[in-house]
Order: sequence, then structure tokens, then C-alpha cells
Amino acid sequence: MGSAGVDKPETRLFINGKFTESSDGKTFQIKSPATREVVADVFEASESDTDSAVAAAKAAFPAWSALSPGDRGVYLKKLAALLHEASDELSRLEALSMGRPVSTYFDAHAAASTFEHYAEAGYDAQGASSLNTPGFVNMTFKQPYGVVAAIIPWNVPLVFFANKVAPALAAGNTVVLKSSEKAPLTSAKVATLVERVGFPAGVLNIISGHGQTSGAILSSHMDVRALSFTGSCRTGRLIQAAAAKSNLKHVVLELGGKSPAIVFEDCDLDAAVQETQHSIQFNSGQVCMANSRIYVQDTIADKFVEAFKEKFAQVAAGDPLDAKTTHGPQADEVQYNTVQRYIEAGKASSTLAMGGTKEVSGLSGASEQGYFVPPTVFLHSPEEAVVMKEEIFGPVVNINTFKTEDEVIAKANDSEFGLYASVYTKNIDRALRFAKALEAGTVAVNCTSPMTARDMPFGGYKSSGVGREGFGHSLNNFLETKTVLIKIKS
Ligand code: NAD
Repeated sequence: MGSAGVDKPETRLFINGKFTESSDGKTFQIKSPATREVVADVFEASESDTDSAVAAAKAAFPAWSALSPGDRGVYLKKLAALLHEASDELSRLEALSMGRPVSTYFDAHAAASTFEHYAEAGYDAQGASSLNTPGFVNMTFKQPYGVVAAIIPWNVPLVFFANKVAPALAAGNTVVLKSSEKAPLTSAKVATLVERVGFPAGVLNIISGHGQTSGAILSSHMDVRALSFTGSCRTGRLIQAAAAKSNLKHVVLELGGKSPAIVFEDCDLDAAVQETQHSIQFNSGQVCMANSRIYVQDTIADKFVEAFKEKFAQVAAGDPLDAKTTHGPQADEVQYNTVQRYIEAGKASSTLAMGGTKEVSGLSGASEQGYFVPPTVFLHSPEEAVVMKEEIFGPVVNINTFKTEDEVIAKANDSEFGLYASVYTKNIDRALRFAKALEAGTVAVNCTSPMTARDMPFGGYKSSGVGREGFGHSLNNFLETKTVLIKIKS
């Protein structure tokens, strides 16, 4: 074991049930964003490695899809058990590669519970029958697509890994998963668990690599029949276009957000302050549904802003491996520079009320080299300002005021994003008016992100995505529907 309590991380590709180095020997480096030290050299899937992974999945499909959901579920259950066991090590790998504080890590247990759910839920893949056409008994079959590709981001990698892979496998598909080049170590570790479970070769292939190589190849691959993606709107558009230009594969897109939280004067102010600051602070603001735009009724604005700043200042920045740390660095230098650019833009357009500096208090030793951003608050941002329109993906929030319902609904909806929105009020009629009017895939009343419900559909309105995920919804993302017409002789 190394000093961080992690064995030498697995960095190879997992294709057709075997670990392998990349065919051209290429690797890419992972540096700790907290210290800038090199953590691992990871094998990068080449075009031929990506093709091999798809070919392995294609070859494994007939036998895997012929199993009963219960027999497939046995493998998923075993993987869930190993994920629970490996949680501590997985938390350290994520801390090392993208700076997630181990104190906030829940992802492995969440992923395990997703695999546990889909170990049983495969039986929900059912068609319907109809006697509505005279002289016929008609029915639908629900059948797996074949090879499914899953492309995941770096911010909460194993949650997305499980959200895509578990239902795809439960439905009888075989899978090629590509992890993010910023956080490949936990997916590679899960590959070692997949090997231990003894999945049939080729059923689940796990590769590391950059988007423009393996990601783009999967998106335009003629043998990939469905693709589930979580990541940025920019990449989502590229994937949609690649799918259209190749085989029109079925695509599910979970994309970015610029989520508004609306706070009325009749709310529970303490709860609103606590929850809205947690939403933008958790994972250093690197959360798709983080409430990065807060609209507070003008009558309580001063009180809200003071209380918000006080809570927001209470973060403990430092080594993500330290159990006391609650505020990690941005995932890498690119993310850090992006957030800094937005902070500079915010200083030009808005009033800086907190943070916005390059110095972050509480850092010591190697962490002083890290890519930390202090909690940052802007006030009075013009609605058209870049910090109000674009996803920053950092601990940076805009707090604006409003007077009337109509005014704030118009402002909240004036965004190309539509992932999540929340409203704090004790007035039930107003809460329901907002639930109806807000253009978002999820509207939260008297709570905010990251609150979600596992059996409710999650996804985006407008440019925040295409399709929905969640228990009771994801299985259908990986099933074709076939109509069978049966004529009865009278
Ligand atoms: P990203 O789009 O840069 O990368 C996501 C994945 O796509 C990575 O694996 C990357 O390698 C791959 N990729 C990049 N270019 C590609 C291409 N041309 N073809 C195919 N694949 C390609 O996103 P990110 O920076 O990793 O993640 C942050 C983004 O994800 C944010 O916008 C965030 O809002 C969004 N996100 C959305 C949700 C959701 O559920 N809606 C959840 C988490 C994150």
C-alpha cells in the first residue's frame, strides 16, 4: 500500500474479460489536483482497442441476452457486494485523481445499491398485448439493443457508471464503458471487481481514454446501437451529430445546468440558506444541478446574503484524503483555469461579495500548490452576464433579487438550460404555480439539489438533455420495442 492507503492503481484497459495495455502503448498522466503530483500513467484506448471492445461486446451479446434476468442478476448482485467492500479504496482513488474529499464520498455505496436494484428489476422488461384489432392478437416485445456504449464524466463517476451499466446489462445488452480522462482510476478499479465476479468475457468492457479518440469512435460506431452519455452540452451535441451521421443509434443525453433557486420571504430562511449554499459548495460546485443562480425576494435579500456568506465561509479546504476536509480543489488545471476566467468575467459584470481570490485560507503543505477556488458570491449580476448564462462548474454563485412572481419566473426560465429548479415558500398555491411554470426536468419545493429521488425520472428540459434516467425509467432506455401482429383464423 502507498502512503495514501491505495495499492498501485489499475491503469489498464479491460476488454473481453482481460486486462490489457493499449495496443500502441500510449498512456496519459493523472496528477492530483490537490498537490499537482503525478498519481498514475493510464493506458489510453486506441482506435483498435475501442473496436476490440465493441467486437467483444458484440460477440458476448447472444449468450448474455439469452439468460434470464434472474441469471444476469446474480452477476450484478456480486458486483454490488464487491463495490460496498471497496468503497474506502474507491474514495481514495477519486480523491487522488479529481480531488473529491473522502469525507463526502458516497458514490460506491450508491453505485452498489443501483446494481442491487437492477439485479431484480430485469423482470420489469415487459411488453403489452392488445385485442383491439378485430381478428388479431397483437403484442409488443421489449428486447435489448445489442451493444450499448456508456460515456461518463468525472464529477461523480461511479454514480453514472452504475446508472448506465446496471440497467443496460439487466435488460440483456452488453456494454463498452468509457470513463473520463480526468477520473479513470475508479472505473479501472471496478474493472478488477468485474473480473473477480467472473462476468462472461465481453459482457462489460471498461476503457479509459480521451473523448476525441475512444469517445468519438464509440459515438460513430456502426455496431453500437444505443449510447448513454452524461457530460457537457458541447459534447452531447457532438455525440448526437455523430450518432446521426453513422447508424442513428439511440442516444440518451444527461447534460449541464444553470439551476435557479427562488427564495420567497415566507420561506424557512435557515433551511433555504443552508441548503442553497450546500448545493453550490458540494464537490466544489462541480455538480450539474448545483443552484448557481439564486433569486431572493428583495424584502429578505440583505438577511439572506449575510447568512449565506457566513455558512459558505465555513468550508474546510485542504487535502481531500484528510477526513476533516470538506472543500476540495477543482478537478484539474483546465477546470481551475475555466473557473478563474469566469470569476474575472464576474468581477467585470457584477458585484463581488465574497471570495474571488487566488488565495484560499486553511491550505498548508503540498495543498498550497492545489487548484483550490474559494467560495465566491456575486451580487447584482445582469441577467445577460456570462456568469448568469454559462455553466461555471465551480463554487461560484450569483445571488440576485426580485419583487414579483412573474418577474422571477421569467428570469429563471430565461436560460437555455433546464435541468433543475427550486422554490422556497410556505404558500402551497405559489409552490404549485412555480412547479408548473419552471422549465426544468426537476422542480424542488422547499429543498434543492443535490436532492433527487431514485424512482423519479431525472433529466433535462431544453439543452440540458434528451431522455430520462431513474429506477423504473432507465431500463426502457436500453430496450427496443417490437410489434408482433398475430392473425387468428376464424
Ligand atoms: P465532458 O463533456 O467534457 O466529458 C464527458 C465525457 O465525454 C468524458 O468521458 C469525455 O472523455 C467524453 N467526450 C469528450 N469529447 C467527446 C466526443 N467528442 N465524443 C464522445 N465523447 C467525448 O464533460 P465533463 O467535463 O466530464 O463533465 C462535466 C459536465 O457534465 C458538466 O456540463 C455537467 O453539468 C455535466 N453533467 C451532467 C449531469 C446530468 O445528470 N445531467 C451529471 C453530471 C455532470
